[in-house]
Amino acid sequence: MITQNDQEVSSESTQLELAVTAWRLAIGVENVDTRKKNLQIAETATFAVERNVNAILYPLDQKEIIACVQIAGQFGQSIYPISRGLNWGFGSKVPGHDTGIILDLSRMDGVIEYNEELAYVRVQPGVTHSMLYDFLQSRQSELWVAPTGAGPDTSVIGNALERGHGVTPYGDNISQISDLEVVLADGEVIRTGFGMYGNHRLSPIDRWGVGPSLDGLFSQSSLGIVTSLTLWLMPKPQASSMGYLTFSNTEDFLEAMVKLRALKLQEAIRGGIVATNDWRMYHSEPSLMGPNYNYSMAGCYRDFTFNKWNIVFGLYGTPLAISETQATIKEQIERVGSMRFFDEAPSENISYPNEYCRAMHSIFSGVPGQCPSRMYFPQGKAPDFGVQPEADQCGIIWLTACSPFLQKDLSIANSIIEETFEGSGFVPDINIFCKRPRSLHYHIAIFYDRRTGDDELAMQCYRKLEQKFFEAGYFPHRLGAHYGGAELKQLDRVGALMASLKSTFDPKSVIGNGKYCSLNTR
Ligand SMILES: Cc1cc2nc3c(=O)[nH]c(=O)nc-3n(C[C@H](O)[C@H](O)[C@H](O)COP(=O)(O)OP(=O)(O)OC[C@H]3O[C@@H](n4cnc5c(N)ncnc54)[C@H](O)[C@@H]3O)c2cc1C
Repeated sequence: MITQNDQEVSSESTQLELAVTAWRLAIGVENVDTRKKNLQIAETATFAVERNVNAILYPLDQKEIIACVQIAGQFGQSIYPISRGLNWGFGSKVPGHDTGIILDLSRMDGVIEYNEELAYVRVQPGVTHSMLYDFLQSRQSELWVAPTGAGPDTSVIGNALERGHGVTPYGDNISQISDLEVVLADGEVIRTGFGMYGNHRLSPIDRWGVGPSLDGLFSQSSLGIVTSLTLWLMPKPQASSMGYLTFSNTEDFLEAMVKLRALKLQEAIRGGIVATNDWRMYHSEPSLMGPNYNYSMAGCYRDFTFNKWNIVFGLYGTPLAISETQATIKEQIERVGSMRFFDEAPSENISYPNEYCRAMHSIFSGVPGQCPSRMYFPQGKAPDFGVQPEADQCGIIWLTACSPFLQKDLSIANSIIEETFEGSGFVPDINIFCKRPRSLHYHIAIFYDRRTGDDELAMQCYRKLEQKFFEAGYFPHRLGAHYGGAELKQLDRVGALMASLKSTFDPKSVIGNGKYCSLNTR
């Protein structure tokens, strides 16, 4: 006997089949992937998560994206846009909601405008940090990119829309984008800022335009698909320097952070300030993989010149201004293990104390660098070639939280982390990042080997930490497909407004990004 449930399932699959046929006609059979093996890869993150991906679409241009969303709307399908899909530790390519169609924008990889004089480019979603770097190099440009610690192959747009970060003065990527071109759920296209008047000379250079600003609606959102945007680039500074400080004592570290905050507020430190614990340093050291995996921490402190706490930060400007700031830091931060400034451009000839410093010096200097082996650390081997942590069953879960940049909050957050990891079977990999001077962004990674069946334990540890941070008022600033979510309730008025925005922009829920669903209903 056929039940109502069976009928619903069969009509759902008929709708999907009709949609797939229509997408094939619209963008070509070869650009609609429904092969089981590939769908399974796309459903895999770096932690356990249940998702169904029914197809992956690879549109080439805006016209094809419009066709994809219109067909999705017609046949009741939900689309999840990705630029490069390297959202490691946050869910990789998997949709934020249970079932979906991935809209992979990696084929749209053009730098479609370049202006050296006004220091900007216009890019499409598939453009990676290394592509943009190569593009600028090939034109002898004096402009810098703002790469991230995630490696050279991540996308400029995906990272910025997710409010990711690099470490140069332009590293708060979301602050450097404007003039977004967006395909809405009904296939209409809009541009933000002065872009509302069309492709005008003013569009790329002034964010606000006139009237309410729409830019913010499209980051960490499901209100539209961004097909291109303007990215402002930092002119190469006269000089730059990366500072590196280590501390064996937590009190000394906390005091130093507060002193650096004052310099950040005064804009003497223009770049990011990144504090890390010893596990973060350890996990960045490929030479500790394999036979040396059980190297003692004390041995690492000695041989790789890091310590319980470590700080890197970026100075940019005239050589005089930089040396004055360095002098102030030397004078004010006395109780420090080691202190070193890397004043020259990154080079093979520099003798770095450890691989973390090498990688960070590169991205502080606007050169996309690689630190991917960290994900492979629990497996004790680096990847043979390429980086496919999902297929290689690397376990990584990121937790994000935000706190005021105060000594008291740093100390509370650190205690929460310590007590949560105690006896959990995992070690905390701590990265505390100051991109704006008044707040701190915590990124805590749980790295593990998925082959040993620790998925559940790792997720329990993550959930505990998520809960404790939340209770302390340190809310997440970026979510993954794993986010518990229920606690993230905003004031009713805001929730209702978000829901009404969603129903105005996308009444059929064609664009899905369920991880932010309590902020904007799917
Ligand atoms: C060891 C390690 C280090 C890392 N270091 C950093 C770091 O320093 N800084 C950092 O920010 N992250 C870091 N990450 C996290 C992550 O890998 C990066 O943020 C990465 O840039 C995200 O992947 P992507 O750029 O390919 O974006 P995607 O995965 O393509 O997209 C990210 C999100 O944006 C949405 N999106 C993408 N494109 C569009 C579009 N065109 N329109 C609408 N929505 C869109 C997607 O739906 C998705 O939710 C790190 C991860 C690891 C494992």
